[in-house]
Amino acid sequence: MTKIIVIGAGVLGASAAYRLAQAGAKVTVLEAGRAGGGTSGTSFAWTNSHRKRPFAYHALNVAGMAAHAALKDEFGATPWWHGGGSIEWVAAEEIEALRDNVAQLQAWNYRAEWISKSDLAALEPEIDPATVGDSPIGYFPDEGWLDPVPYAHAMLSAARGLFGATLVLGARVADLLTRGGRVCGVTLADGTVHEADMVVNCAGRLSNTAIRDTALHVPLAPTVGLLVFTPPVATGLRHVVHSSVVNGRPDGAGRLMLHWEQIDPTVPADAVASPDLAQAREIMDRARRLLPAIGDVRAEAVRIGIRPIPRDGLTAVGPLPRVDGYYVAVTHSGVTMSPFLGAAVADEVMLGRVRPELAEFRPARFFN
Ligand SMILES: Cc1cc2nc3c(=O)[nH]c(=O)nc-3n(C[C@H](O)[C@H](O)[C@H](O)COP(=O)(O)OP(=O)(O)OC[C@H]3O[C@@H](n4cnc5c(N)ncnc54)[C@H](O)[C@@H]3O)c2cc1C
Repeated sequence: MTKIIVIGAGVLGASAAYRLAQAGAKVTVLEAGRAGGGTSGTSFAWTNSHRKRPFAYHALNVAGMAAHAALKDEFGATPWWHGGGSIEWVAAEEIEALRDNVAQLQAWNYRAEWISKSDLAALEPEIDPATVGDSPIGYFPDEGWLDPVPYAHAMLSAARGLFGATLVLGARVADLLTRGGRVCGVTLADGTVHEADMVVNCAGRLSNTAIRDTALHVPLAPTVGLLVFTPPVATGLRHVVHSSVVNGRPDGAGRLMLHWEQIDPTVPADAVASPDLAQAREIMDRARRLLPAIGDVRAEAVRIGIRPIPRDGLTAVGPLPRVDGYYVAVTHSGVTMSPFLGAAVADEVMLGRVRPELAEFRPARFFN
């Protein structure tokens, strides 16, 4: 039986572990902290393919959206995934870009429509229509959002319960183990050795810290993102909404998750995640403009996430040149793509089927 180690139990590692175990591998997932406790636990988690260019990258995201929807047939119910579409309107200076995006999506046969203000009122009765101004309103029916931690948990539970995978928590990988020029396992920070035929690195933004040899590091350009959470409020959103003042979506039990991309660059990566941050207060003020009925409610929680972005902004999935037995999967938009990438990783690693969809996304592009 082929023994495979997956490093990391975020959405990507959990998806890969499930599909690899289903394909017949003896899978061990080594997770330094808790499942879903990395970037996957601090994600806006909108499943979409907006402004994902070039076309091959757009197609990967669309494949991820389709894979999320298809899991319903496999699992019977997918309570971690919420469809219903997303809605977008913008400030005056961004109207041109919104029109361009919708035109591009339509040209690629992605469902993107214009809706009226009364349609918007029917979809989201509690938002203040004054925030729309003169912007057209886009509606994207196939989009939604994920609860990434319950999703990772479901994939790991299925991998373990159905296919005998093992999850080891508190297992920080410190280096690859090689024999005769081939990777044959990993060494943990506490010195424990785990042997395997293949190692799949899904450690996200920390993927390079799991390997000492810098010649095997995929160059990353991570960015910081700030998410603000309300307590349960007796008003709310029903969809993922990108508006001219703030972006938001439901986050369970009446809570809202809020984000404003323009604020992200002002947040230091080591900032203490507190509702008292000036940036969190500004996001709450913006949310009151979108949803006046939330009144003077204060933020309940703030999370700061680091996006695992390969240097050129695109996905990096595949083996590395000059080393056998080692495979990497690191990407932004991993929430959207993870069920597709998990299946693609299993096809390539276990079944020897090279996936053409990944041709433009090989880590080899970073190495001469
Ligand atoms: C603010 C924000 C908003 C986002 N919005 C979206 C969005 O709307 N849509 C979307 O699709 N994507 C979005 N993303 C990106 C998405 O969240 C990530 O691409 C995805 O979560 C990456 O998952 P992962 O499994 O690769 O990494 P992670 O979730 O970080 O998982 C990696 C795991 O590896 C573990 N690990 C690290 N080092 C080691 C080691 N040495 N040994 C063992 N384990 C280790 C970590 O503990 C962690 O659990 C957003 C990200 C942020 C920060």
